[in-house]
Amino acid sequence: FEALAAFDPDIAGVLTGELGRLRGGLQLIASENFSSPEVLTALGSTLSNKYAEGYPGRRYYGGCAEVDVAEELAIERCKALFGADHANVQPHSGASANQAVYGAFLKPGETILAMSLPHGGHLTHGTKVSFSGKWFDAVHYGVDKETEDVDYDEVERLAREHRPKVILAGGSAIPRTIDFARFRAIADEVGAIFWVDAAHFIGLVAGKAIPSPVPYADVVSFTTHKVLRGPRSGAIVCTEEHRAAIDKAVFPMMQGGPQMHTIAAKAVNFKECATPEYAEYARQVVANAAVLAETLGEHGIRPTTGGTDTHLSLHDLQGVLVTGADAEARCDAAGITLNKNAIPFDPQKPNIASGIRVGTPCVTTQGMGEDEMRRVAALIARAVVDGDADPEHAVSREVRGAVTELVDAFPAYPRPARG
Ligand code: PLP
Repeated sequence: FEALAAFDPDIAGVLTGELGRLRGGLQLIASENFSSPEVLTALGSTLSNKYAEGYPGRRYYGGCAEVDVAEELAIERCKALFGADHANVQPHSGASANQAVYGAFLKPGETILAMSLPHGGHLTHGTKVSFSGKWFDAVHYGVDKETEDVDYDEVERLAREHRPKVILAGGSAIPRTIDFARFRAIADEVGAIFWVDAAHFIGLVAGKAIPSPVPYADVVSFTTHKVLRGPRSGAIVCTEEHRAAIDKAVFPMMQGGPQMHTIAAKAVNFKECATPEYAEYARQVVANAAVLAETLGEHGIRPTTGGTDTHLSLHDLQGVLVTGADAEARCDAAGITLNKNAIPFDPQKPNIASGIRVGTPCVTTQGMGEDEMRRVAALIARAVVDGDADPEHAVSREVRGAVTELVDAFPAYPRPARG
């Protein structure tokens, strides 16, 4: 770091500034986490220099002996972690992994049935602004108005009506576990491929804190940087039957050279995920999310679906007469980072929204437990209901002071002891 700081103080300043931001506030974005120094070491390594198009033992470049070891370890660890027949660890991100799944199973113009974005799906699940909605015919299901959970009857009805080539489960704002067996049965009835985008919750599956989609799905795509706590990247696991289609779709259909430093970091992360400490962390992420959701509810900030089974909850702010955009700005001013989010059947535009989404991966990695979650909920409620977007407002200062006290007791990336 000293050499970088001497050569490029501007970028060194960004790195230290960001570390200060992570340490100085509460990080509640459900898709973020703090990966370990070991993962970061692999990411910042000379493996970034290497071209290795192809797969281990079948490369288009010489000099791949070392990186082959890294990729083989990542593949084997990923397969063992999820009990999968096959793993492809080359996707650069969650969106790249999804692109490859489309490439493997669909031709342009064919039909996919997926969760709608405003009800909790993802941009790559067939929205018009994404390649997925431009190149494929996307039909969308949503949540049930009463339960606010996936409307399985609607999935079944739309599958029978449209006979999609692929049925996709998963999304970015789904607080509840998904009934994979029901999806599998629907897919079998209409002869569709069953795909799970587990980007958000795969880390809980790795820690055995929630049920796995792997025994049910033909293919599971995911990101590695959310609850899972690895490098910013993606991966795909699938049954033996689809191995060749997935590998060809990742390379050469969608990607060029794999990022070998990131693949090495994924291998490190998969090793971390197999430890008892990781399983305990995953269990605590869920326990923390349940308490955070419940306590926010007690403060009038209602959790949709009545709570959560996972790492995230979605909250309806209409009862406290605050928009999602205002809540996000007020929390920001108070040292709490979270995001506004549309809730199902939201009367507001997406850039205003009536809800917020909160997640517990970061705070759990910091070592916080249920007692701290009650405190965090009270601080969010104070900032959202009584606060202001001005950091100098009395409530912003008050909440920020309490946030500082809390994060100082549970530091992200604790400083090494000197002496
Ligand atoms: N799929 C889901 C369900 C996601 O939530 C996300 C990211 O938030 C992605 C895919 C895309 O991942 P990435 O941002 O790594 O491209």
